[in-house]
Amino acid sequence: MAAVPGGREGPVAGAVPVFLYHSVAVDPPSWIAPFTVSPRTFAEQLGMIVDSGLRVVPLRSLVAAQRGGEALPERAAVLTFDDGFADFRATVLPLLVRWRLPATLYVTTGGLGGGPEDGPFPPGSRMLSRGQLGELDAAGVEIGGHTRTHPQLDVLPGGPLREEVGECGRELADVLGHEVTAFAYPHGYSSRAVRARVREAGWTSAAAVREAFSSAADDPWRIARLMVRADTDRDRFREWTRGAGAPVAPFPEGVRTKGWRAYRRTRARLHVPYEAIA
Ligand SMILES: [Zn+2]
Repeated sequence: MAAVPGGREGPVAGAVPVFLYHSVAVDPPSWIAPFTVSPRTFAEQLGMIVDSGLRVVPLRSLVAAQRGGEALPERAAVLTFDDGFADFRATVLPLLVRWRLPATLYVTTGGLGGGPEDGPFPPGSRMLSRGQLGELDAAGVEIGGHTRTHPQLDVLPGGPLREEVGECGRELADVLGHEVTAFAYPHGYSSRAVRARVREAGWTSAAAVREAFSSAADDPWRIARLMVRADTDRDRFREWTRGAGAPVAPFPEGVRTKGWRAYRRTRARLHVPYEAIA
């Protein structure tokens, strides 16, 4: 139990798993398949979360604790879903309701209803409609923003960056009839400049990926999450529910992240879509 925060032994006291899901389906299109779990696996994972004694709390409770507000319960966890796949309404919501679990759904507004032919997701993608988003909001799911077109924000120039971050919030407020406050970076990527624009646009928190546990000491502008993928096996997931198997944020941005960003900036110029979609 004597693991050092940031180390890979574990479990670490105060480690908060913020699980990141995308699509939950049996027959995903190939572009999202590596980031899709089956409904059976998803239900099994929710069972593991509950059986492990984790307490799933709303994202806002984690953010409040990070800002020095009310402390989290022991062994807190958070559920998040990115992009806005239609299976959230059909498959995920009934399970969340059955288990009484709160969740945050980060929506790419340009993909709502499937979006246009040249939208952020490939034609034929089954995405939530505006009406379904209203239903989810009414059912108590927190709706958050995930830009309009799902770009890598840290390689965008200032104007388009402002528009992606600001317009998505205005569109969601228009659909839901109230402000939304939680933002997630597409692909998890941000930079100091991106985080500043997100704050200016009125968002009050922003989720990254980082493949790490969050904590009350983590940065609410780059909340660490653990991405659940098609190949996340049972042992790995169980380890996560024990607070082990990944580092605990905060930890400094690594050399790898900076080198990776330079590589991606090059790729972005080549307009290679969905290379690292998340
Ligand atoms: Zn995404």
